[in-house]
Amino acid sequence: RREDADRSYFQSYSHIGIHEQMIKDRVRTDAYRDAIMRHQNLISDKVVMDVGCGTGILSIFCAQAGARRVYAVEASEIAIQAEIVMRDNNLSDKVIILHGRVEDIEIEEKVDVIISEWMGYILLYESMLTSVIFARDKWLKPGGLILPSHATIYMAPFTYDEMYESTINFWRNVYGINMSAMIPHAKLCAFEEPAIETIGGENILTWPSEIKYLDCFTVAARDLESITTEYRFRSLVQAPLHGFAFWFDVEFNGPAVVPSESHSQLADGSSSFNLSNGSSHTKKRVKSDQVIVLSTSPEEAPTHWQQTLLYLYEPIEVKQDQIIEGSVTLAQCKENSRFMNIQLQYRTGGQSFVKESVLR
Ligand code: SAH
Repeated sequence: RREDADRSYFQSYSHIGIHEQMIKDRVRTDAYRDAIMRHQNLISDKVVMDVGCGTGILSIFCAQAGARRVYAVEASEIAIQAEIVMRDNNLSDKVIILHGRVEDIEIEEKVDVIISEWMGYILLYESMLTSVIFARDKWLKPGGLILPSHATIYMAPFTYDEMYESTINFWRNVYGINMSAMIPHAKLCAFEEPAIETIGGENILTWPSEIKYLDCFTVAARDLESITTEYRFRSLVQAPLHGFAFWFDVEFNGPAVVPSESHSQLADGSSSFNLSNGSSHTKKRVKSDQVIVLSTSPEEAPTHWQQTLLYLYEPIEVKQDQIIEGSVTLAQCKENSRFMNIQLQYRTGGQSFVKESVLR
Protein backbone atom coordinates (compact mmCIF):
# COMPACT_ATOMS: atom_id res chain seq x y z
CA ARG A 1 0.00 0.00 0.00
CA ARG A 2 2.56 2.55 1.14
CA GLU A 3 4.81 1.54 -1.73
CA ASP A 4 2.03 2.12 -4.27
CA ALA A 5 1.34 5.51 -2.75
CA ASP A 6 5.04 6.40 -2.84
CA ARG A 7 5.40 5.27 -6.43
CA SER A 8 2.74 7.63 -7.71
CA TYR A 9 4.00 10.36 -5.37
CA PHE A 10 7.54 10.21 -6.74
CA GLN A 11 6.26 9.80 -10.27
CA SER A 12 4.51 13.14 -9.95
CA TYR A 13 7.92 14.71 -9.26
CA SER A 14 9.54 13.18 -12.34
CA HIS A 15 7.62 15.61 -14.58
CA ILE A 16 9.25 18.91 -15.49
CA GLY A 17 6.12 21.03 -14.88
CA ILE A 18 6.14 20.82 -11.10
CA HIS A 19 9.82 21.80 -10.93
CA GLU A 20 9.31 24.67 -13.35
CA GLN A 21 6.42 25.90 -11.23
CA MET A 22 8.42 25.71 -8.00
CA ILE A 23 11.50 27.41 -9.42
CA LYS A 24 9.42 30.16 -11.04
CA ASP A 25 7.79 30.83 -7.67
CA ARG A 26 10.19 33.63 -6.80
CA VAL A 27 8.75 34.16 -3.34
CA ARG A 28 9.69 30.56 -2.54
CA THR A 29 13.01 30.28 -4.32
CA ASP A 30 14.30 33.74 -3.28
CA ALA A 31 13.39 32.99 0.35
CA TYR A 32 15.49 29.83 0.24
CA ARG A 33 18.39 31.55 -1.49
CA ASP A 34 18.29 34.45 0.97
CA ALA A 35 18.14 32.03 3.89
CA ILE A 36 21.12 30.06 2.58
CA MET A 37 23.16 33.23 2.07
CA ARG A 38 22.11 34.58 5.49
CA HIS A 39 23.42 31.38 7.09
CA GLN A 40 26.56 31.28 4.98
CA ASN A 41 28.79 31.20 8.08
CA LEU A 42 27.11 27.93 9.12
CA ILE A 43 27.22 26.43 5.60
CA SER A 44 30.65 27.45 4.33
CA ASP A 45 33.11 24.52 4.57
CA LYS A 46 30.32 22.37 6.03
CA VAL A 47 28.50 19.23 4.91
CA VAL A 48 24.89 19.70 3.80
CA MET A 49 22.07 17.29 3.01
CA ASP A 50 19.35 18.49 0.63
CA VAL A 51 16.33 16.27 1.31
CA GLY A 52 14.41 16.01 -1.97
CA CYS A 53 16.76 18.03 -4.19
CA GLY A 54 14.55 17.92 -7.31
CA THR A 55 16.50 19.74 -10.02
CA GLY A 56 19.24 20.43 -7.48
CA ILE A 57 18.69 24.16 -7.24
CA LEU A 58 18.96 24.44 -3.44
CA SER A 59 22.06 22.22 -3.46
CA ILE A 60 23.68 24.59 -5.93
CA PHE A 61 22.81 27.59 -3.75
CA CYS A 62 24.52 25.77 -0.86
CA ALA A 63 27.57 25.08 -3.03
CA GLN A 64 27.62 28.77 -3.95
CA ALA A 65 27.53 29.56 -0.21
CA GLY A 66 30.73 27.55 0.14
CA ALA A 67 29.50 24.15 1.33
CA ARG A 68 32.32 21.60 1.34
CA ARG A 69 29.97 18.84 0.24
CA VAL A 70 26.25 18.55 -0.48
CA TYR A 71 24.43 15.22 -0.41
CA ALA A 72 21.51 15.87 -2.76
CA VAL A 73 18.94 13.14 -2.17
CA GLU A 74 16.12 12.64 -4.65
CA ALA A 75 13.83 9.63 -5.05
CA SER A 76 12.18 10.62 -8.31
CA GLU A 77 13.64 10.29 -11.79
CA ILE A 78 14.39 14.03 -11.90
CA ALA A 79 17.61 13.00 -10.10
CA ILE A 80 18.98 11.92 -13.49
CA GLN A 81 18.75 15.46 -14.85
CA ALA A 82 20.01 16.93 -11.58
CA GLU A 83 23.15 14.82 -11.94
CA ILE A 84 23.80 16.29 -15.41
CA VAL A 85 23.15 19.82 -14.15
CA MET A 86 25.90 19.30 -11.56
CA ARG A 87 28.29 18.01 -14.21
CA ASP A 88 27.57 20.93 -16.57
CA ASN A 89 28.26 23.37 -13.74
CA ASN A 90 31.47 21.63 -12.63
CA LEU A 91 29.88 20.72 -9.30
CA SER A 92 29.98 16.93 -9.57
CA ASP A 93 32.70 16.51 -6.96
CA LYS A 94 30.95 18.83 -4.52
CA VAL A 95 27.27 17.95 -4.95
CA ILE A 96 26.71 14.21 -4.70
CA ILE A 97 23.37 13.19 -6.18
CA LEU A 98 21.90 10.18 -4.35
CA HIS A 99 19.04 8.76 -6.37
CA GLY A 100 16.78 7.12 -3.79
CA ARG A 101 14.54 7.74 -0.82
CA VAL A 102 16.25 9.52 2.04
CA GLU A 103 15.01 6.66 4.20
CA ASP A 104 17.11 4.20 2.15
CA ILE A 105 20.34 5.99 1.24
CA GLU A 106 23.66 5.52 3.04
CA ILE A 107 26.47 8.06 3.38
CA GLU A 108 29.73 7.86 5.29
CA GLU A 109 29.48 10.90 7.50
CA LYS A 110 26.97 12.97 9.43
CA VAL A 111 25.94 16.36 8.13
CA ASP A 112 26.09 19.87 9.63
CA VAL A 113 23.07 21.22 7.78
CA ILE A 114 19.79 19.83 6.45
CA ILE A 115 17.96 21.89 3.88
CA SER A 116 14.66 20.83 2.36
CA GLU A 117 11.66 22.24 0.59
CA TRP A 118 9.08 19.83 1.97
CA MET A 119 5.97 21.99 2.35
CA GLY A 120 2.68 20.97 0.78
CA TYR A 121 -0.77 22.52 0.79
CA ILE A 122 -1.81 23.41 4.37
CA LEU A 123 1.86 22.75 5.09
CA LEU A 124 1.46 19.06 5.80
CA TYR A 125 -0.19 17.64 2.68
CA GLU A 126 2.27 15.13 1.09
CA SER A 127 3.67 14.31 4.56
CA MET A 128 7.18 14.98 3.35
CA LEU A 129 8.19 16.51 6.68
CA THR A 130 8.22 12.97 8.04
CA SER A 131 11.14 12.21 5.70
CA VAL A 132 13.00 15.33 6.88
CA ILE A 133 12.50 14.21 10.48
CA PHE A 134 13.90 10.82 9.55
CA ALA A 135 16.95 12.45 7.92
CA ARG A 136 17.42 14.74 10.94
CA ASP A 137 17.39 11.87 13.41
CA LYS A 138 19.71 9.70 11.33
CA TRP A 139 22.14 12.09 9.70
CA LEU A 140 22.21 15.52 11.39
CA LYS A 141 25.04 16.22 13.85
CA PRO A 142 23.94 17.42 17.29
CA GLY A 143 23.58 21.21 17.17
CA GLY A 144 23.27 21.16 13.38
CA LEU A 145 21.20 23.57 11.34
CA ILE A 146 17.82 22.81 9.73
CA LEU A 147 16.39 25.12 7.07
CA PRO A 148 13.58 25.98 7.39
CA SER A 149 13.63 25.75 11.18
CA HIS A 150 10.03 26.48 12.16
CA ALA A 151 6.62 26.35 10.53
CA THR A 152 3.15 27.65 11.40
CA ILE A 153 -0.29 26.77 10.05
CA TYR A 154 -2.96 29.49 10.08
CA MET A 155 -6.69 29.60 9.56
CA ALA A 156 -9.24 32.38 9.07
CA PRO A 157 -12.91 32.64 7.98
CA PHE A 158 -13.31 34.14 4.52
CA THR A 159 -15.95 35.73 2.31
CA TYR A 160 -15.75 35.43 -1.47
CA ASP A 161 -18.84 36.77 -3.21
CA GLU A 162 -17.31 36.93 -6.71
CA MET A 163 -16.60 33.23 -6.66
CA TYR A 164 -20.03 32.40 -5.28
CA GLU A 165 -21.70 34.50 -7.95
CA SER A 166 -19.71 33.10 -10.83
CA THR A 167 -19.92 29.40 -9.93
CA ILE A 168 -23.22 29.04 -8.04
CA ASN A 169 -25.61 31.92 -8.68
CA PHE A 170 -24.50 31.84 -12.31
CA TRP A 171 -26.89 28.90 -12.83
CA ARG A 172 -29.95 30.98 -11.92
CA ASN A 173 -29.96 32.63 -15.31
CA VAL A 174 -28.05 31.06 -18.19
CA TYR A 175 -28.78 32.83 -21.49
CA GLY A 176 -32.15 33.70 -19.93
CA ILE A 177 -32.81 30.06 -18.97
CA ASN A 178 -33.49 29.03 -15.37
CA MET A 179 -30.87 26.35 -14.66
CA SER A 180 -31.01 26.57 -10.85
CA ALA A 181 -31.53 22.80 -10.88
CA MET A 182 -27.75 22.68 -11.37
CA ILE A 183 -27.06 24.46 -8.10
CA PRO A 184 -26.96 21.48 -5.71
CA HIS A 185 -24.66 19.67 -8.13
CA ALA A 186 -22.52 22.77 -8.64
CA LYS A 187 -22.13 23.09 -4.86
CA LEU A 188 -21.18 19.47 -4.47
CA CYS A 189 -18.59 19.70 -7.24
CA ALA A 190 -17.12 23.00 -6.07
CA PHE A 191 -17.25 22.56 -2.30
CA GLU A 192 -16.90 18.89 -1.51
CA GLU A 193 -13.11 18.92 -1.61
CA PRO A 194 -10.71 21.57 -0.38
CA ALA A 195 -9.99 24.14 -3.11
CA ILE A 196 -6.55 25.55 -3.90
CA GLU A 197 -7.21 29.19 -4.80
CA THR A 198 -5.70 32.61 -4.23
CA ILE A 199 -7.64 35.07 -2.11
CA GLY A 200 -6.57 38.46 -0.75
CA GLY A 201 -6.54 40.09 2.66
CA GLU A 202 -9.88 41.71 1.77
CA ASN A 203 -11.51 38.26 1.75
CA ILE A 204 -10.56 37.53 5.36
CA LEU A 205 -13.14 38.33 8.05
CA THR A 206 -10.86 38.32 11.10
CA TRP A 207 -7.29 38.08 12.29
CA PRO A 208 -6.03 34.57 11.57
CA SER A 209 -5.76 31.91 14.20
CA GLU A 210 -2.64 29.83 14.66
CA ILE A 211 -3.51 26.17 14.20
CA LYS A 212 -0.09 24.66 14.79
CA TYR A 213 3.46 25.79 15.40
CA LEU A 214 6.18 23.28 14.56
CA ASP A 215 9.81 23.32 15.58
CA CYS A 216 11.71 21.33 12.96
CA PHE A 217 14.49 20.56 15.45
CA THR A 218 12.22 18.75 17.86
CA VAL A 219 9.00 17.72 16.06
CA ALA A 220 8.38 13.95 15.94
CA ALA A 221 6.71 11.99 13.15
CA ARG A 222 3.82 10.96 15.43
CA ASP A 223 3.07 14.66 16.16
CA LEU A 224 2.03 14.99 12.52
CA GLU A 225 -0.42 12.09 12.34
CA SER A 226 -3.31 14.09 13.72
CA ILE A 227 -3.48 17.70 14.86
CA THR A 228 -6.57 19.09 16.60
CA THR A 229 -6.95 22.72 17.55
CA GLU A 230 -9.78 24.83 18.86
CA TYR A 231 -10.34 28.26 17.41
CA ARG A 232 -12.46 31.28 18.16
CA PHE A 233 -12.95 34.21 15.80
CA ARG A 234 -14.80 37.49 16.21
CA SER A 235 -15.83 38.80 12.80
CA LEU A 236 -14.51 42.28 12.12
CA VAL A 237 -17.21 42.97 9.53
CA GLN A 238 -20.70 42.01 8.43
CA ALA A 239 -20.44 39.67 5.44
CA PRO A 240 -21.49 36.26 4.11
CA LEU A 241 -19.15 33.63 5.53
CA HIS A 242 -18.25 31.35 2.61
CA GLY A 243 -15.76 29.13 4.38
CA PHE A 244 -12.41 28.85 6.09
CA ALA A 245 -9.02 29.54 4.54
CA PHE A 246 -5.78 27.81 5.56
CA TRP A 247 -2.20 28.74 4.84
CA PHE A 248 1.25 28.53 6.43
CA ASP A 249 4.60 30.18 6.80
CA VAL A 250 8.07 28.84 7.48
CA GLU A 251 10.94 30.59 9.25
CA PHE A 252 14.64 30.26 8.63
CA ASN A 253 16.14 30.71 12.09
CA GLY A 254 19.64 29.72 13.14
CA PRO A 255 20.21 26.59 15.22
CA ALA A 256 20.82 28.16 18.61
CA VAL A 257 17.44 29.74 19.25
CA VAL A 258 16.46 29.81 22.90
CA PRO A 259 13.04 28.16 23.20
CA SER A 260 11.54 30.76 25.53
CA GLU A 261 12.22 33.48 22.98
CA SER A 262 11.32 31.98 19.68
CA HIS A 263 8.70 29.41 20.45
CA SER A 264 6.09 31.16 22.43
CA GLN A 265 6.38 34.91 22.52
CA LEU A 266 3.12 36.64 21.71
CA ALA A 267 2.36 40.14 20.56
CA ASP A 268 1.14 41.18 23.98
CA GLY A 269 4.40 40.05 25.58
CA SER A 270 2.85 37.07 27.30
CA SER A 271 4.89 33.94 26.96
CA SER A 272 2.43 31.19 26.25
CA PHE A 273 -0.06 30.33 23.59
CA ASN A 274 -2.93 29.23 25.71
CA LEU A 275 -5.91 27.84 23.86
CA SER A 276 -8.02 27.59 26.99
CA ASN A 277 -8.06 31.38 27.10
CA GLY A 278 -10.56 32.18 24.40
CA SER A 279 -9.15 35.53 23.41
CA SER A 280 -5.57 34.43 22.89
CA HIS A 281 -6.25 32.43 19.74
CA THR A 282 -5.93 35.28 17.36
CA LYS A 283 -2.79 36.87 18.72
CA LYS A 284 0.17 36.83 16.46
CA ARG A 285 3.51 35.36 17.29
CA VAL A 286 6.21 37.98 17.16
CA LYS A 287 8.70 37.34 14.41
CA SER A 288 11.83 39.36 14.58
CA ASP A 289 12.56 41.44 11.48
CA GLN A 290 15.89 39.65 11.28
CA VAL A 291 14.27 36.32 10.49
CA ILE A 292 13.57 35.31 6.90
CA VAL A 293 9.96 34.14 6.62
CA LEU A 294 8.43 32.45 3.60
CA SER A 295 4.73 33.26 3.94
CA THR A 296 1.79 31.97 1.94
CA SER A 297 -0.67 34.34 3.63
CA PRO A 298 -3.43 36.03 1.57
CA GLU A 299 -1.92 39.30 2.85
CA GLU A 300 1.39 38.57 1.14
CA ALA A 301 2.54 38.13 -2.46
CA PRO A 302 0.93 34.98 -3.97
CA THR A 303 2.90 31.73 -4.18
CA HIS A 304 2.24 28.47 -6.00
CA TRP A 305 0.77 27.12 -2.74
CA GLN A 306 -2.00 29.76 -2.93
CA GLN A 307 -4.42 29.22 -0.02
CA THR A 308 -6.45 26.14 0.78
CA LEU A 309 -10.16 26.95 1.02
CA LEU A 310 -12.80 24.89 2.76
CA TYR A 311 -16.12 26.11 1.44
CA LEU A 312 -19.42 25.77 3.31
CA TYR A 313 -22.28 24.37 1.25
CA GLU A 314 -24.43 27.31 2.39
CA PRO A 315 -22.99 30.75 3.16
CA ILE A 316 -23.78 32.12 6.63
CA GLU A 317 -24.54 35.83 7.11
CA VAL A 318 -22.38 36.97 10.00
CA LYS A 319 -22.67 40.32 11.77
CA GLN A 320 -19.83 42.45 12.97
CA ASP A 321 -18.44 41.04 16.26
CA GLN A 322 -20.24 37.73 15.75
CA ILE A 323 -18.33 34.81 17.22
CA ILE A 324 -17.35 31.91 14.97
CA GLU A 325 -15.80 29.08 16.94
CA GLY A 326 -15.13 25.39 16.86
CA SER A 327 -12.31 22.98 16.25
CA VAL A 328 -10.34 21.62 13.34
CA THR A 329 -8.50 18.33 12.92
CA LEU A 330 -5.84 17.81 10.24
CA ALA A 331 -5.02 14.12 9.99
CA GLN A 332 -3.08 11.84 7.68
CA CYS A 333 -5.51 9.57 5.81
CA LYS A 334 -5.52 5.88 6.70
CA GLU A 335 -5.68 4.87 3.02
CA ASN A 336 -2.67 7.03 2.09
CA SER A 337 -0.70 8.96 4.67
CA ARG A 338 0.24 11.57 2.04
CA PHE A 339 -3.43 12.61 1.80
CA MET A 340 -5.00 14.84 4.42
CA ASN A 341 -8.34 14.55 6.12
CA ILE A 342 -9.71 17.86 7.35
CA GLN A 343 -12.49 17.77 9.87
CA LEU A 344 -13.99 21.10 10.70
CA GLN A 345 -16.53 21.84 13.41
CA TYR A 346 -17.95 25.34 13.56
CA ARG A 347 -20.57 27.10 15.61
CA THR A 348 -21.96 30.54 14.98
CA GLY A 349 -25.26 32.36 15.53
CA GLY A 350 -26.55 29.47 17.66
CA GLN A 351 -26.05 26.86 14.96
CA SER A 352 -23.49 24.11 14.83
CA PHE A 353 -22.02 22.31 11.80
CA VAL A 354 -19.47 19.68 10.85
CA LYS A 355 -17.69 19.37 7.55
CA GLU A 356 -15.21 16.68 6.61
CA SER A 357 -13.17 16.74 3.42
CA VAL A 358 -10.09 15.09 2.02
CA LEU A 359 -7.17 16.66 0.19
CA ARG A 360 -5.89 13.97 -2.19
N1 SAH B 1 14.46 21.00 -3.63
C1 SAH B 1 13.78 21.17 -4.91
C2 SAH B 1 12.55 20.27 -5.04
C3 SAH B 1 11.52 20.44 -3.93
S1 SAH B 1 10.06 19.44 -4.17
C4 SAH B 1 13.42 22.62 -5.09
O1 SAH B 1 13.45 23.34 -4.11
O2 SAH B 1 13.10 23.03 -6.20
C5 SAH B 1 10.33 18.06 -3.14
C6 SAH B 1 11.21 16.98 -3.76
O3 SAH B 1 11.49 16.03 -2.75
C7 SAH B 1 10.53 16.21 -4.88
O4 SAH B 1 11.38 16.21 -6.01
C8 SAH B 1 10.34 14.80 -4.33
O5 SAH B 1 10.47 13.78 -5.30
C9 SAH B 1 11.44 14.73 -3.29
N2 SAH B 1 11.20 13.82 -2.17
C10 SAH B 1 10.10 13.78 -1.36
N3 SAH B 1 10.23 12.84 -0.40
C11 SAH B 1 11.45 12.27 -0.58
C12 SAH B 1 12.15 11.22 0.09
N4 SAH B 1 11.60 10.59 1.14
N5 SAH B 1 13.37 10.87 -0.38
C13 SAH B 1 13.91 11.50 -1.45
N6 SAH B 1 13.30 12.49 -2.12
C14 SAH B 1 12.08 12.89 -1.70
